Amino acid sequence: MSPAPSDTATSGRVVLVTGGSRGIGAACAAWFLANGDRVAVTFRGEAAPVAPPGAAQRFLAVRCDVTEPAQVEAAYGEIEARWGPVEVLVSNAGITKDTLVLRMGEDAWHEVIETNLTGGFRVAKRAVAKMLRLHRGRIVFVSSVGAFVGLPGQANYAASKAGLVGMARALAREVASRQITVNVVAPGVVDTDMTGALGKTRVGELEAMVPLGRVGLPADVAAVVGFLASDGAAYVTGTVVPVDGGLGMGL
Ligand code: NAD
Repeated sequence: MSPAPSDTATSGRVVLVTGGSRGIGAACAAWFLANGDRVAVTFRGEAAPVAPPGAAQRFLAVRCDVTEPAQVEAAYGEIEARWGPVEVLVSNAGITKDTLVLRMGEDAWHEVIETNLTGGFRVAKRAVAKMLRLHRGRIVFVSSVGAFVGLPGQANYAASKAGLVGMARALAREVASRQITVNVVAPGVVDTDMTGALGKTRVGELEAMVPLGRVGLPADVAAVVGFLASDGAAYVTGTVVPVDGGLGMGL
């Protein structure tokens, strides 16, 4: 068994996971903490998440709604004051507002685009400003298999998640000369609150379409995010890695 990482305010990389209070984001935070990194997570209306045992010095919960530019700026300010610039960004915060296009109001369209796509742009732009000076950095956007499949009822969500791919690739080219990598993961059906809202019947239907025969766990996604942020992925940029049990293969 490997020893527990040391818990000091100066050890490990500085990682920010947006929407890290639960689900895939919380699993990513746990992965980086287990790797010995210092991890800030954003939370919104809910109670602030608490540091896991043995990681008090390396965990920071910052209140931040990614649709609010002032809150994004304040969150980065708080993290930088505590630990210095963010070296790894996991842009994970996301929502769904599913309904058929004919019933989709402009508010449902804008809210999803504003959170999932513009929020990602906002947090990445702020991270990159400091990474360029560091001459290193890792950015991972959490997209979705829905970006490529285009499930009915998800025009806004699919557009936002497909938009992340184009944005990530443009950004990857812009920052590559400074050894900053920008990648995307595309989870399939993962067992979180977001999927829970679909109901057991719908999740069962989707699960039946997964070649590996099960829904994903948040930790399945976190492991791939962690790899993309690792030294082992230094030569990987502008790519989209599905983490979907084969659901979207060939798309
Ligand atoms: P979740 O609902 O459990 O978590 C979403 C997180 O995003 C929460 O912490 C929430 O507070 C945060 N968030 C939402 N809006 C925000 C905002 N405006 N500002 C800051 N934080 C905000 O869902 P999840 O399944 O863990 O989703 C995480 C990411 O993974 C999302 O981007 C989602 O689209 C994506 N994803 C999920 C699945 C799945 O099956 N669960 C599949 C593909 C992609």
